[in-house]
Amino acid sequence: MESLLYIHVPFCQRLCGYCDFYKTISLKQLPLYPDALLAEAKARAGELAGTTLRTIYLGGGTPSLFTPEEVEKILRGVAEIWDTSQVAEITLEANPDDLSAQRLEGYRKAGINRLSIGIQSFDDEQLRFMNRRHDAATARAAIRAARQAGFDNLSIDLIYGVPCGGSEVWQRNIEEAIDLNPEHISAYHLTIEEGTVFGKRGVQPIEEERSEEEYLMLHKALTEAGYDHYEISNFARQGRRSQHNSGYWRGVPYVGLGPGAHSFDGESRSWNLPNLNRYIANPTDPALRESETLTAEEQVEEMIMVGLRTREGIDLQTIEQKFGAERALYTARAAEPFVLSGTLLREGSRLRFDAEHWLVSDAVISELF
Ligand code: SF4
Repeated sequence: MESLLYIHVPFCQRLCGYCDFYKTISLKQLPLYPDALLAEAKARAGELAGTTLRTIYLGGGTPSLFTPEEVEKILRGVAEIWDTSQVAEITLEANPDDLSAQRLEGYRKAGINRLSIGIQSFDDEQLRFMNRRHDAATARAAIRAARQAGFDNLSIDLIYGVPCGGSEVWQRNIEEAIDLNPEHISAYHLTIEEGTVFGKRGVQPIEEERSEEEYLMLHKALTEAGYDHYEISNFARQGRRSQHNSGYWRGVPYVGLGPGAHSFDGESRSWNLPNLNRYIANPTDPALRESETLTAEEQVEEMIMVGLRTREGIDLQTIEQKFGAERALYTARAAEPFVLSGTLLREGSRLRFDAEHWLVSDAVISELF
């Protein structure tokens, strides 16, 4: 059985207006963090026993606040705990303004073979509006520098539906992304969550019509440029899908290290409480972990929800094998009206959305539960 490793790095230099991830802008404890992560990894070594570790993903937060030496220390420590000989993809999420030539070279030497760069926009006004710490020129320079350092697997993140600037800014962002030719592009709609800086400031989301327009612009431009729209928010060149995220979507078990990180063993979910101080004080404190076992119904709902966001969709045969003929039949019947109206596509035992209908996927998915 395959497995994945996620390492959460909850440090940032400043708060982006839309962000609701667990993080802190105090960097005081950053130097202590690699040892804490490795202590947790050691204590949880048994959780990956009998599996083949395929990917490692350092996400955040801002993992590029780590020096290459710190990244190397973490990866070396992980390799002492688990067999990493079959790990094909090691991703580091990075902010453009951390990516000096020296750092990039160091990350490569440390074993990172994929970068996910948080560009978000190539428009300075939008970047200021979102309180990002880089500007557009830095974003372009980071991608070029990553290429020069020898990275041949780059992903960039973009945000659409930004209230500042119209759809023409989004069109330019897409064009610029295509020109820079990353192997992978993730594009998310800006959401305004309670408790975020935008939420507190009362920033209003854009109108639905513009959201749809920007989503379809994205799909059209990137697929015409040869990208595979393989998940609702993700596009990849041939053979360059995110192996880590694809593993999540297939239900592959994973261990998540660090405060706020989630883990999944195939049947139950567990998570570390988002409390950095307690974590640094005792990263193996059992009181910091919580878990829940998913009922069969919760598992099938998860499979439907996540699967229908991918281009491959869901397989009724798999549902039958795992959850019984009755549940598969129920799903097929519930899907029927959507298949008849053309909202869902039925191909043999598979059900999937085409990209246009992903826009209404949430409403349809809940009808299949
Ligand atoms: S969006 Fe990323 S960089 Fe910005 S505050 Fe959130 S985790 Fe940090």
